[in-house]
Amino acid sequence: MSKPYKTLDDMGDIQGKRVLVREDLNVPMQDGAVTDDTRLRATVTTVAELADRGAIVLVLAHFGRPKGQPNPDMSLALVTKPYEAVLGRPVRFIDWEGADATVGTLQPGDIAVLENTRFFGGEEKNDPAVVDRFAALGDMYVNDAFSAAHRAHASTEGLAHRLPAFAGRAMEAELAALEKALGNPEHPVAAVVGGAKVSTKLDVLKHLVARVDHLIIGGGMANTFLAARGVDVGKSLCEHDLTGTAEAIMDAADKAGCTVHLPYDVVVAKEFRADPPTRTVNVHEVAADEMILDVGPAAVEALGDVLKNCRTLVWNGPMGAFEMTPFDAATVALARTAAALTGDGSLVSVAGGGDTVAALNHAGVASDFTFVSTAGGAFLEWMEGRELPGVAALAG
Ligand code: ADP
Ligand code: MG
Repeated sequence: MSKPYKTLDDMGDIQGKRVLVREDLNVPMQDGAVTDDTRLRATVTTVAELADRGAIVLVLAHFGRPKGQPNPDMSLALVTKPYEAVLGRPVRFIDWEGADATVGTLQPGDIAVLENTRFFGGEEKNDPAVVDRFAALGDMYVNDAFSAAHRAHASTEGLAHRLPAFAGRAMEAELAALEKALGNPEHPVAAVVGGAKVSTKLDVLKHLVARVDHLIIGGGMANTFLAARGVDVGKSLCEHDLTGTAEAIMDAADKAGCTVHLPYDVVVAKEFRADPPTRTVNVHEVAADEMILDVGPAAVEALGDVLKNCRTLVWNGPMGAFEMTPFDAATVALARTAAALTGDGSLVSVAGGGDTVAALNHAGVASDFTFVSTAGGAFLEWMEGRELPGVAALAG
């Protein structure tokens, strides 16, 4: 299938061209040091390729939430040094003041980071004046920040209409993986949806039931589904006002031929903390003063068998309160099964979500999945079946 957007392969000769590249440099920092450089590393392929092809590379990114005001604590000048270390090349920092003149001094192959796009109030409003301000600095536009593509901002959406626009390598890889997982997947497809609450993932669940063959529900949200089936979940996290919605989702799944898997054994405790006394019980044996904090081992084994018969897996949300032992057990076990099946070549596995990525790292298998998205909000919106404005704009 040909891609609905252009990539770096379609840019032609870019020697001496000024290329504005939207990246995600919004890294966590503490005491002046980057505490997780995943996002910086994700930009290297695109930025290095453009520089090697002789472009003048101008990186556009936001940093924090300065709310349209310059703020030295949220200056991308703070990220320039760590970014140089990750890229292994010199990086210039360019303030908005006098940006046009400074850009004019750059040579082919130079890399510069422009100041925080959100220092302009119009960035988040996709104000044409801000789009013009950015566009004046470049000849071409590359969007490489899938994680910001769910926002229609000047630097993520507006620019794609103003300059010749291309998807960067990281964007391209992300879109290809997502297409393989949900757009045009090999069946049977399983979805694992976990995490704390049904209410935050209603649209995800509704979208998935019509597309996947197996919907595996875990985490706190499974409690609402169990309650909808008449199970007394005791003191568990449970959105009792959403049991009707849970029922409707299960009905829709039934009609679509999607099998919904709920845990039938669970790990319970009376206290929400690491290593409290626990019991592993059938879901019908949860006491009034107990909380379900993980899926039980029998259910995990059965779910592993489901995955063995699937060709594609898409995963968002941990199966239990994985931050506390021993409630990480189900997530870790199922993640390791998925990783092993991926290694065998029998499963395409795509996962995303802030806590999901943390859980897969905790299980030591993030690099064994086919693709792990660190995009957070954009990944969830994609799982809801929504069109992402930053991606749609690349398609023209
Ligand atoms: P993601 O960030 O990957 O989208 P969520 O934010 O939806 O995932 O959910 C993660 C949270 O869900 C974790 O903090 C985890 O502790 C919590 N959680 C999972 N299972 C349970 C449970 N049974 N009871 C309470 N919290 C749970
Ligand atoms: Mg989360």
